[in-house]
Amino acid sequence: MAASIPPFSLLRNYAATTARAFVTVKVKPSYAISSTTLHHLPSRSRRLQFYASATNNEEAAARAAAANADSGAPTIFDRIIAKEIPSSIVYEDEKVLAFRDIDPQAPVHVLVIPKFRDGLTQLGKAEARHGEILGQLLYAAKIVAEKEGILDGFRVVINNGSDACQSVYHLHLHVLGGRQMKWPPG
Ligand code: 5GP
Repeated sequence: MAASIPPFSLLRNYAATTARAFVTVKVKPSYAISSTTLHHLPSRSRRLQFYASATNNEEAAARAAAANADSGAPTIFDRIIAKEIPSSIVYEDEKVLAFRDIDPQAPVHVLVIPKFRDGLTQLGKAEARHGEILGQLLYAAKIVAEKEGILDGFRVVINNGSDACQSVYHLHLHVLGGRQMKWPPG
């Protein structure tokens, strides 16, 4: 039921898929929480239920995305590169595009991607020939951090595969900053 899923999760699911409908996930195996049930829960329980729902949803979306990982199908990022759908571009050169994440996890959250995927659906597919573009992506991450004024403290993340909740199979670096980061990450 849509009422039990935070709107950003729906967005994320939409964004992560190219040929897949929304994923509906029950918070518990035996039932899904209705909005009426939620209304009667204490607020902390409600927050936990939303958290559980978002987490389960994220994992389910990642598993669904992984099922198509090797299909070679275009992803939402191809449409962003082609400017068919809008994005907030932070940096661009011949090989690399950096744009703001639609579902930011920090005040600064920018995705850095290669314009030509060349088999790099995920970091785990990297081969020696990808060395140059991998270096360019990392350097672009530094340029983004500089442009965003977070050079003193920022994090670069690559989620690889469904266990890491990768949801878009076009290699991308997350550049995160503008708040205190915690360790270990979730
Ligand atoms: P992953 O989960 O694969 O590591 O990261 C994919 C990221 O792409 C997510 O953080 C998600 O919010 C972001 N994303 C997915 N679709 C779109 C979109 O259409 N536009 C933008 N700007 N970001 C997107």
